[in-house]
Amino acid sequence: MFPKMLIAGPCAAESEEQVTEVAQALAPLRPIFRAGIWKPRTQPDTFQGAGERALVWLQKVQCEYHLPVATEAGTPQQVLAAAKAGIDYLWIGARTAANPIAVQALADAVKACVQDGCRLQGLLIKNPVHDDAALWAGNILRLQAVGLPVIAVHRGCNHRPCWQTAYGIRCRMPDIPLLMDPSHMSGNADKVAELCRTAVELDYDGLMVEVHSHPDRALSDARQQITPQQLYALIDSPAGTLTDERELRWLRKMIDEADDELWQAVAARMAVSRRIGDYKRKQQMPVLQPDRFNQILQKRLQWAEAHGLSPDAVQTIMEQIHKESVRVQL
Ligand code: PEP
Ligand code: MN
Repeated sequence: MFPKMLIAGPCAAESEEQVTEVAQALAPLRPIFRAGIWKPRTQPDTFQGAGERALVWLQKVQCEYHLPVATEAGTPQQVLAAAKAGIDYLWIGARTAANPIAVQALADAVKACVQDGCRLQGLLIKNPVHDDAALWAGNILRLQAVGLPVIAVHRGCNHRPCWQTAYGIRCRMPDIPLLMDPSHMSGNADKVAELCRTAVELDYDGLMVEVHSHPDRALSDARQQITPQQLYALIDSPAGTLTDERELRWLRKMIDEADDELWQAVAARMAVSRRIGDYKRKQQMPVLQPDRFNQILQKRLQWAEAHGLSPDAVQTIMEQIHKESVRVQL
């Protein structure tokens, strides 16, 4: 399974030795080599990236292994520093992508660098960290106005794929290459291979994968990085079939995701129900409260009407859920 476009490398450039070790291991695959040097971390007391000094390490990857290199820029100053250092691709991360003012400022900075003759070859834009296809599409338009090729990177939200968001971009902007980032999508190295197979089934244009020679020692995203050997193994694995059923595969991914959400909601409802059961027991109230159930049911029947669902079906499902709620309270 060789992706049409492969971006691979560590979450973060940690040291010259670490960058060189991964680049050397990956060089035969000819990927675009990725490494974050300014890391948008949730907590201030964690590793924030090596900063500007890591640009030299990436230049070494360009010179010694003849690989194009990519890094994340979150501010116009970072764009300038990266462009000055001759970085080939910049990506805009999911957190920055949530803020259109920040994305526009980055687009403006890149445009100025391109006018000054920098060697940037393209811009990658992740989906925003919250599920918002329209904002992702708007960001793509902002970057397209710069004049460099733009590539969309689907990394999901909170370790959920959000297939619908990526499908929306695929349909609305069929000419924009769409890559999958299975590392951030799953947050789990054990799930990366499976997601890569899905990317092939759904005809993504490529992959952005986090690879570290010693994931257990990584200073960021340790749990989701795979080793170079694991990347070789998954690239050597069979591609799976690509047929005209692609549309159906996308739709089935969305159904699976909707089912996951549905059943998680049912489980969450039952957990609340158990707490209500404890309360009723303490207050010596009867478990069955027909008036309350009737209220809930009427509300859902009106809702069914407004959302084009059959009231009979909604009533049947609601009664079953209620039956289970009563059972867990007994
Ligand atoms: C990354 O690619 O290292 C990164 C921080 O990604 P995201 O913005 O998708 O979290
Ligand atoms: Mn990462």
